[in-house]
Amino acid sequence: MLNRRGFIIGAAALSTYVIADRSWAQATQGPFRLPALPYPANSLEPHIDARTMELHHDRHHASYVNKLNEALRGHEQLAQRPLEDILANLNDVPESIRTTVRNNGGGHANHSMFWEVMGPDGGQPQGELQAAIERDFGGLDQLQQRFNDAGSSVFGSGWVFVTVDGDGRLAVTTRPNQDTPLSDGQRVLFGNDVWEHAYYLKYQNRRDEYLKNWWNVVNWKAIGDRYNRAKSGDLGL
Ligand code: MN
Repeated sequence: MLNRRGFIIGAAALSTYVIADRSWAQATQGPFRLPALPYPANSLEPHIDARTMELHHDRHHASYVNKLNEALRGHEQLAQRPLEDILANLNDVPESIRTTVRNNGGGHANHSMFWEVMGPDGGQPQGELQAAIERDFGGLDQLQQRFNDAGSSVFGSGWVFVTVDGDGRLAVTTRPNQDTPLSDGQRVLFGNDVWEHAYYLKYQNRRDEYLKNWWNVVNWKAIGDRYNRAKSGDLGL
């Protein structure tokens, strides 16, 4: 009985593993890879629920990665370039795959950034980043207000970003769909996903409430690191 029980538990655990592993294996074919979530899917609760995080990462982001890799099949030289370079030079991408690369490459870039700038215990802006927020927005409250207003004004699906230039200057901007400021030669300090798939399970049509609560899961330590990398020219996606 014990053996049988042990086998059943073992088999159940194994099948869960195999299912999880298969989606991972699909996502890791080709040159681009789905990055692992840097924290458990339930660690942003109650502001973002675990199910939303799982679907968002394991299905939506994985799909962008898979479709990007599929589009780049047979374009080996292009596929070897860093994604930020591909997105900054979309005119170099053959026209037959340009829209697919723009949408799915943008989706891969945007979501890779998105997981990185969130986390539990996100703290507060420090040091040079805090000073830049004061200088360019008048303070964190004002930045949040501008960012939320911009995110709220995106019609349909898209993103709201804070960009950072090589001198550390910050600006709020938005893009539709999976477009990214990387395609305009800019660098993204952080951004929030305002596609309905990012918030619909918990917030339904209440995007403003999602935008407001999202600040509770922002990882200012990670954003501070990105700020330093941007100033030294080392920030990619
Ligand atoms: Mn998304």
